[in-house]
Amino acid sequence: MALNDPVKRKIVLQRVLNKLICRKCGAINSPRAKKCRRCGSRNLRLKKAELRGKGA
Ligand SMILES: [Zn+2]
Repeated sequence: MALNDPVKRKIVLQRVLNKLICRKCGAINSPRAKKCRRCGSRNLRLKKAELRGKGA
């Protein structure tokens, strides 16, 4: 998937960032979730941005 277009790249990054990952089971939850939909844990974290490329 080519991300040469900076606008598309930004959108993709926002989508990737806009998730909560359960530290307990690793499930991906909605950014508005208060607790994990799979295991019910509240131990959620934001998905880390991985900026690979020039200058990152
Ligand atoms: Zn979980």
